[in-house]
Amino acid sequence: MFNSKLIFLIVAFIWNGTFLLCQNIEESGGGEYIHNPSMKCVSDEDYSRISFMLHDNMNILQNKGILPKSDKNQVVAFAFPLKKAENLTWNNFYGISGFVDQNSDNEVMDYNCGLRTYDGHNGVDYFTWPFQWYLVENDLVHIVAAADGIIIGKEDGNSSYSCDWNGNQNWNAVYLRHNDGSVTWYGHMKKNSLTGKAIGSQVKQGEYLGVVGSSGRSSGPHLHFEVYKSQPFTRFNLIEPHSGSCNTLNNDSWWESQESYQYPVLNTILTHNNVIEFGCPTELEKTYFKNEFKPGDKVYFSRFYKDQKKGSTSFQKVYKPDNTLWRQWQHTFTDDFNASWWFNTQTLPANAEIGEWKYEATYEGSYMQHTFRVTNTSGTADEDTEFNMITFPNPAIDILKLSFPPNDQIQKIAIIIRSVTGKIVLNQTYLGETEGQVDIAHLPNGIYLLECKKEDKTLTKKLIINR
Ligand SMILES: [Zn+2]
Repeated sequence: MFNSKLIFLIVAFIWNGTFLLCQNIEESGGGEYIHNPSMKCVSDEDYSRISFMLHDNMNILQNKGILPKSDKNQVVAFAFPLKKAENLTWNNFYGISGFVDQNSDNEVMDYNCGLRTYDGHNGVDYFTWPFQWYLVENDLVHIVAAADGIIIGKEDGNSSYSCDWNGNQNWNAVYLRHNDGSVTWYGHMKKNSLTGKAIGSQVKQGEYLGVVGSSGRSSGPHLHFEVYKSQPFTRFNLIEPHSGSCNTLNNDSWWESQESYQYPVLNTILTHNNVIEFGCPTELEKTYFKNEFKPGDKVYFSRFYKDQKKGSTSFQKVYKPDNTLWRQWQHTFTDDFNASWWFNTQTLPANAEIGEWKYEATYEGSYMQHTFRVTNTSGTADEDTEFNMITFPNPAIDILKLSFPPNDQIQKIAIIIRSVTGKIVLNQTYLGETEGQVDIAHLPNGIYLLECKKEDKTLTKKLIINR
């Protein structure tokens, strides 16, 4: 379980951070991405179901001679269990919301003697960050095998869109047995994203297992990674893979390379045409991604951090197409946050140079560059960022939620759904709205084409209905 309500404090307040050279900043805001660490990811019923299932599967595999005897002398060292998709260009894509709780009573304590855990939490929670639902929808963060092993369990078919602790829903997960007899659990995966390999198959370290989702008892997309040195899956065999002075479960680190307890990174920087909003499937996340602007446009420059560190400073610069510096500003943080985001707006001059502009940020040794274009032509090719449509969920169930770009003038947007043969099965229009809802309960499961028409522009997307 991790960040229950995505309570995020915004918008457009002026923070206490220090600015130098900030005379041109217009609007700014952001804050912590707050997690609510009050519930367990895995319930007692889950533990009993999973234990029985894995026990049975391992017996069957052993009897078939597929599961070799474990060798305690083998050394298993873990690689990081997440990997970004090749087309994700961000520096980093996750934060850590909870380690294994070392305290068996009602108090909490993580391996490093801190409080970064939840009561009774037996795994490490890695949440994707930022734009968690965008990452889920586009399969951009993969869960991979921490070490070579054999698949001893798979659970799939549960919704990937949990936004809160939901009493009795199961997760989607893959379970591996490694050569030394240890077992790793990978939970909350996206529905239907699991590896096609069957139970009993071998996987290599770093091999794809699934996509990060939010199935089961989960308040947002994250990986719950749980480790046991052997069966049975009880506290006695539980491992916290990080070594530290308050780790009461094991002395040694199980990582090939253990990440520092606090590891500040600039995850990504982006440009937008409005103040972004994080949300849940019921309240759509609004990315407002935009990489093409016109002279005089207001540009929203955003930055997203993992482990923002108190007293550290992030430096931002924007360059014109001829590489001359246009703006620069810096932000010194006054708090420690597991995850945070900040934005500033800058209005392009009426005579802004046409061409490719460069936005860059440097933070604690991490650097990112993001380019955007300034054009004076209206909407020709590559208008994807200007005229975007976000659909949720996809695959869809009964209600499809849509998010359109902010509508300056009152513009009509038509949503058309066609069957694969091209027949129109649904046609709905919206006037000046930035989001809409389409009732698709009457449409049978299958693949459709979803068209969004604005003036003479049409955006087409594949829509899958899968209940
Ligand atoms: Zn967890």
